[in-house]
Amino acid sequence: VDFGIHRNLLCSASSWFKDVLTEGSAEVKEGVICLPDDSLEILEFFNLWIYTNSLNDPDTGKPPSAWTLLLDIYLWAGYRGVPRLQNVTIDVIQAQLAPGEGIPLLIVDRIYNATPRPIKLRSLAAVSFLRVPGGFFNTFVAYGDQTGDGYKVTLATEMLPPREFLYDVILLQKEKLDALGATSDPLLDFERCYFHVHPDVETCLTVDQ
Ligand SMILES: [Zn+2]
Repeated sequence: VDFGIHRNLLCSASSWFKDVLTEGSAEVKEGVICLPDDSLEILEFFNLWIYTNSLNDPDTGKPPSAWTLLLDIYLWAGYRGVPRLQNVTIDVIQAQLAPGEGIPLLIVDRIYNATPRPIKLRSLAAVSFLRVPGGFFNTFVAYGDQTGDGYKVTLATEMLPPREFLYDVILLQKEKLDALGATSDPLLDFERCYFHVHPDVETCLTVDQ
């Protein structure tokens, strides 16, 4: 499949294409770039975007909605040096998140395993996780253990979220708390007894002394 895209358009949209067109082989300088490993579907979206500044289907007026496709477009745009396509794609991703919906964990996993690291998409994934009702533990099942002195957290999915993702989520929570101006010592939010171990006795023997 051949795509005829104007050279100036290509060079202004993509640092990668600009480099290839100026420093490539004679054939490339003539204006022919072969991309045998790039997905045809993604190249079609790139071609659509470069002429319409949008990912909307000309017939339906709607952008693609499949998570994996949107992620693939975003990663391709990063790989090929097309930041404006990345921005359009991340806007589509953001717009299609329903209220209270986070980016699915399977997609989060792919985002965190992608190279080069899609930093902004990681941020969006971590923030989207924060808006899920129930907060941090919604994706997990947290339940009180009525007989013991604590609670257990069990994964609701079989997949463990990437460690860096959990770290980002925690950092964001912390930033949010700091922005709210929480000045008290978090340690003071807990009763001293919260950190005690009471295996046999019902009441605390040290707090009231
Ligand atoms: Zn105690």
